[in-house]
Amino acid sequence: MIEFSHVFKSYGRGLNALADASFQVDAGEFVYVSGPSGAGKSTLLKLVAGLVPASRGRIQVNGQDLGKLTGRARPYLRRAVGVILQDTHLLNDRSAFENVMLPLIVTGHEPALAQTRARAAIEKVGLAGKETRRPVELSGGDQQRLAIARAIVNRPALLIADEPTANLDHASAKRIIEVFRDFNRVGVTMLIATHDRALLAEHTHRVLHVENGRVRNEPGQLAARARE
Ligand code: ADP
Ligand code: ADP
Repeated sequence: MIEFSHVFKSYGRGLNALADASFQVDAGEFVYVSGPSGAGKSTLLKLVAGLVPASRGRIQVNGQDLGKLTGRARPYLRRAVGVILQDTHLLNDRSAFENVMLPLIVTGHEPALAQTRARAAIEKVGLAGKETRRPVELSGGDQQRLAIARAIVNRPALLIADEPTANLDHASAKRIIEVFRDFNRVGVTMLIATHDRALLAEHTHRVLHVENGRVRNEPGQLAARARE
């Protein structure tokens, strides 16, 4: 699903935010990207999402070489990858339901089907009954759920989330991760950046550890051992 081959990324003339990164994520995996703040986690996710270009190296996502994307492949990739960034970019002049509808309208879905899908997505993340609220009228945890609903409404094969539990207490964070695990169970590949050690210790999952722009593969068992 994801393949990095000797990828470097520097912003402007700065140091490498990511240096010589090579790794692979298979379809159906649930992978955490860990590491201290400033390590390069967001950069890694943005590269996968095609939001920033690599300075060197090759990135393949969902069978496409991101360096050689044609105009026609771009919207296809955008649909295949759901992205939840740190700034959720929810629209506060619209209802929760309208926020979830938006990606479907943009991709030209028929309104009746879009409504059915948006309703299903809202139900899936546990926001049923809050459709008419505006994002500002929701708690931090519910805003995060809304961002997830919007990211999955197009049924992406890959879901990327950058610190999705950053401003949440541990109980809310656990519930968000449960939502992600549910998607993973139905086959969605998950890539989640977090520096929350408690969260990493919660489940046994593969971890890509980033430090000073270097990516290190850690077997899933390490996440479990951190608990002991
Ligand atoms: P993390 O997500 O682990 O906190 P980032 O990927 O955001 O790390 O940042 C990695 C490095 O790249 C940091 O040194 C950061 O200052 C730098 N960086 C990130 N984004 C930019 C940018 N748009 N312009 C310049 N430097 C950036
Ligand atoms: P329905 O076909 O009735 O919409 P599904 O059980 O197929 O219901 O999916 C329920 C909801 O889960 C979808 O409406 C969609 O919002 C969300 N979803 C997002 N991505 C996926 C995915 N890759 N696989 C399954 N469901 C997904």
